[in-house]
Amino acid sequence: MEDSLKDRFVGVLLATMVGDAIGMPVEGWDCLRMAEQLDKLRYLPRGEQELATAVLGLVTGGKVEPGQARYSDDTQMAIGIAQALVDDGEIIPEHLARHFAKNFQPWRGYGPGAYGVLDALKQGRPWDEPARQVFGGQGSYGNGAAMRVGPLGAFYWDADVAVIREATRLSSLPTHTHKHGIEGAVVVALAVAGALRQAMAGAEELDVAALLGFVRSGVTDEVYLKKLDQVEDFLAAEPEPCVVAARLGTDLAATLSVPAALFAFLSRWDSLPDCLLYAVSLGGDADTIAAMAGAMAGAFHGAAAIPENWLAALENGPQGRDFAVTLAGQLYARRQGNLGVG
Ligand SMILES: [Mg+2]
Repeated sequence: MEDSLKDRFVGVLLATMVGDAIGMPVEGWDCLRMAEQLDKLRYLPRGEQELATAVLGLVTGGKVEPGQARYSDDTQMAIGIAQALVDDGEIIPEHLARHFAKNFQPWRGYGPGAYGVLDALKQGRPWDEPARQVFGGQGSYGNGAAMRVGPLGAFYWDADVAVIREATRLSSLPTHTHKHGIEGAVVVALAVAGALRQAMAGAEELDVAALLGFVRSGVTDEVYLKKLDQVEDFLAAEPEPCVVAARLGTDLAATLSVPAALFAFLSRWDSLPDCLLYAVSLGGDADTIAAMAGAMAGAFHGAAAIPENWLAALENGPQGRDFAVTLAGQLYARRQGNLGVG
């Protein structure tokens, strides 16, 4: 029981990293271009593992040697959230901002808004200033708070919805103060927590309607509620991926990418690799959509469901694959010792 919970904490962080690394090389490709490339692969007479390698090779522009698949800003910031929770046992935005600033490697593909905020934090500006000043003072409504929140969803997996909402809000503040940026993160955190709950209750199959209902129970924003309705309609209608991409969105805005990640998980929950490949196949902000879907699928299946060769492809230097496994183990230990979270 406990091992299985720990494996899911690891799964959340590692599948975030894997989805991020698979999607990053094709970030910005539109769905049709992705479909064309993936279609070429479909006819190769390969086994499942080899196909996975081929897809990774494809999306990184060639054969991937072990350790060569790099992650981006999504995983780097998810690591910061996990570190902050390990240190404090709760989200203290000022401390979290310090972790983001300390980890900040500008070449990891940060968006222009986040880049400016993190650069300002690194220069020692007060933690709550830069985020409020971006986008003409309305704050970022991008998906940057949502893409990194997986470890928080795991940490608060059995907490009350209101507790998850508040912790998520606090985790958004150092970079994302717009309500749509925050609410997108709430959706991802709830999906991760809900998937983990079902898994730990012994579910072998995801109860998709229950998961969607759980997410809905914690969402108040009209824009997201409408998107959740559309996700539900698509689960029944199963449109072509590029229709899903066009209607749900695959953009940098949280309202236009979080729903696609949720749909990828709810429609492909039975296979973690399929879920991630589908998320990438939607195109657009592929690394972030796959990172968010990865956090959800990792919560349900655990790290054991990630194909060996995908793990082997991941970078393994400082803050690489092994570091993520250790950090997720620490997060689990902190959670187990942290009474009163729920
Ligand atoms: Mg990224």
